[in-house]
Amino acid sequence: MSQIAFSSVPAWARPGGPIEATSPVPTGSSYVLVGVGDVAETLARWESALPPQVTTRIHGDTDTAAAQLGSALTEAVVGVRVWIAADAGSALTLRAVALGAGLEDDEITVVPAASAAEVTVEVFCAHCRSVTRTAAAIDDVVACAGCRRDLLVYHHVSRRTGHYLGFMIDAETAQSPCPANEPHEEPVS
Ligand SMILES: [Zn+2]
Repeated sequence: MSQIAFSSVPAWARPGGPIEATSPVPTGSSYVLVGVGDVAETLARWESALPPQVTTRIHGDTDTAAAQLGSALTEAVVGVRVWIAADAGSALTLRAVALGAGLEDDEITVVPAASAAEVTVEVFCAHCRSVTRTAAAIDDVVACAGCRRDLLVYHHVSRRTGHYLGFMIDAETAQSPCPANEPHEEPVS
């Protein structure tokens, strides 16, 4: 078992993660349904089960859906629930928008869309702080759009942004060792 089970990557964004076909339980007082990609059927199924006067449906590409979700949540009252149907990369971005608007984890439901093996994710460069949007999976190596370093897509996702952390694949060997802060190394016992 790899460390990924204990990482900040949500279960639905992990490789081979479960694809849940069930509908979320409606526990809120209003609903924002957000879809990216080929999820019109899912959105329609959810919408048909919810009170129309308190349900908002958003469907578009990642950027459009994120912007519309953000504005929908600025007007939302307490008790709003966000249901997301999208590929994992888009879902991470949309979840970050909802978390940024003050929602808690249990107010956000993500149903991953059955998708291609590689989804588009956003990778934050630990070196130049650029964000690269690319088709990649965890442990892949991508070229940073900012500094062109080869970045390893690490199994850490920022809750605030939905970005994966990327760092230079050979960072440990390419950098000179830090000056020793301690006069000697303690033997490992
Ligand atoms: Zn970079």
